[in-house]
Amino acid sequence: MAKVIVLMGAPGAGKGTQAQLLSRRFGWPQISTGDILREMAEQDTALGRHIKNVLASGQLVSDEILADIIQERTERDDCRGGYILDGFPRTIRQAQLLDRLVSERGHELVVINIAVTRQALVARLAARRICPRCGAVYNMNSRPPRQDELCDRCGSPLRLRSDDHPDAIQRRLEVYQEQTAPVIDYYRRQKKVAEIDGDRSMDEVFQDLVRVIRERNGR
Ligand SMILES: [Zn+2]
Repeated sequence: MAKVIVLMGAPGAGKGTQAQLLSRRFGWPQISTGDILREMAEQDTALGRHIKNVLASGQLVSDEILADIIQERTERDDCRGGYILDGFPRTIRQAQLLDRLVSERGHELVVINIAVTRQALVARLAARRICPRCGAVYNMNSRPPRQDELCDRCGSPLRLRSDDHPDAIQRRLEVYQEQTAPVIDYYRRQKKVAEIDGDRSMDEVFQDLVRVIRERNGR
């Protein structure tokens, strides 16, 4: 049975990195709504400009837009064996839409919450850098580039993602508390959430994720 992996956790909990690692381990595509939205925001279309404004203000893109993106993306052939969602669902409405998709297609939902303390989150986000040219991601504490703040792959100067600036971080955490934390509660009421301690090394968290996903095999 194809598995649909939902990684929950505040911005900076390491969902993106872990989703990448899991994708490699299991051979399932990683579907990051954040990446898809950032790509769309670069496009000079009405939708692209709208998304760009919403992202820059630290707010969330509407359920309607995200629902269309997810439905379309998960219909593709590479999702038949399973897929990993990163950044979705973020509202109860999105979670309900996903429940419907999963049950219509006879898939199995595996929800995992990566729990990290607020202090650790703020420190991690402020240390994150991206390469504006090739998209490589660095962390000035745990995964710094070899040279100053230059990309190892292409040599471009790294920069802070616009939504990692301190003001935007504060707003993202507030938005998370208001809107996303209830989604975890929604899944908890259905006893679907596996809890993982995210205040550990990337590798320890990864091993735990693999164990949880394997344990669900065949159920
Ligand atoms: Zn680069």
